[in-house]
Amino acid sequence: MSWPGPGRFLLPVAVGLAEAGVRVVGVFEAGDPRAYLSRPRALTAAAGKLGEAAGYAAALARHRVPYNLRHAVVAANGDADSGLGGASVAAVSSVDVARLDAAGQVVVGTRRRIACDAVAVGYGFTANLELALLLGCATRVGADGGLALVVGEDGRTTVPGVYAAGEVTGVGGAALAVVEGEIAGSAVVGDAALSPRDLAAARRKRDRLRAFADAMHAAHAVPTGWPSWIDDDDTLVCRCEEVSAAAIRAAVTDLGASDARSVKALARPGMGWCQGRVCGYAAAALTARHCDRPMTRDDLLAYAHRPFATPVRLGDLAGDL
Ligand SMILES: Cc1cc2nc3c(=O)[nH]c(=O)nc-3n(C[C@H](O)[C@H](O)[C@H](O)COP(=O)(O)OP(=O)(O)OC[C@H]3O[C@@H](n4cnc5c(N)ncnc54)[C@H](O)[C@@H]3O)c2cc1C
Repeated sequence: MSWPGPGRFLLPVAVGLAEAGVRVVGVFEAGDPRAYLSRPRALTAAAGKLGEAAGYAAALARHRVPYNLRHAVVAANGDADSGLGGASVAAVSSVDVARLDAAGQVVVGTRRRIACDAVAVGYGFTANLELALLLGCATRVGADGGLALVVGEDGRTTVPGVYAAGEVTGVGGAALAVVEGEIAGSAVVGDAALSPRDLAAARRKRDRLRAFADAMHAAHAVPTGWPSWIDDDDTLVCRCEEVSAAAIRAAVTDLGASDARSVKALARPGMGWCQGRVCGYAAAALTARHCDRPMTRDDLLAYAHRPFATPVRLGDLAGDL
């Protein structure tokens, strides 16, 4: 098993797998955690996180799992008749990894092949914004590059009477979600909830955790150069509708689309079962790249509107009784 991507999340998962007896052949961190050092205040404010990271580092060393900074898996290889990225994939047998430069481009001559039978990829989280979007809450691009709600100091959204807390206001982890919930809950119910002193303490904690989350996103940002790693024809961007990177490019270059919504209509990425939950960010980023402009909030929004309810069978509900 190998584990590529950028993010703090790689460490607990790789450690968990190694401790469960899986042979983890490597962790490939596309970002550069040394970037934390440029935000020392955020680090000091979240000192507990440093101890946690040190614990993971020690566990990786104990299990002899190599941790590679500024490296990415740039291709996954399967059986001869089932190259990964094609429509039918039996199993992965190896990955190609390469070192990245500061812009996220592959450093020439560093590509190497590693045998493995599973690849776990983590490039961040997508918050469930469906309910808030349905209510008309305004959004912004969050520090992780994904979509987040616009909220005020107390969790108030742009829609009167609607408050938000947690990942929908910007991905930042469980402790931040809890304290944001306390602040928003206190604003909803009024004075009875938290004393002024407790509220002030909650806000300070929220600010500390948010600063750390921002530092984390900066250190583990998805490298801007990632589209240069992929082979247009061999890479499926939307697995539900089997839309290749080449089809997204063609929607822009051959069919004249200049925004993500038109690409979605013309090439169908994000039109399948998951409604863009998995491929939305990549499809939006590729569209912006082919249009030769930065990705915008509207590109992300094109893939964020999804049904807000999920059908549940009566049998499943009955099974829980
Ligand atoms: C595998 C995994 C491991 C993690 N490990 C850590 C960790 O070690 N440390 C850490 O700090 N963070 C971790 N996180 C992140 C952490 O889980 C989140 O930061 C935290 O749960 C955010 O809380 P939340 O209330 O914002 O969202 P959630 O906990 O996701 O709660 C949102 C709830 O709303 C429900 N919901 C959403 N949309 C609808 C809808 N339309 N209708 C009805 N219900 C809806 C969801 O089902 C869910 O129950 C991990 C996340 C994952 C996925």
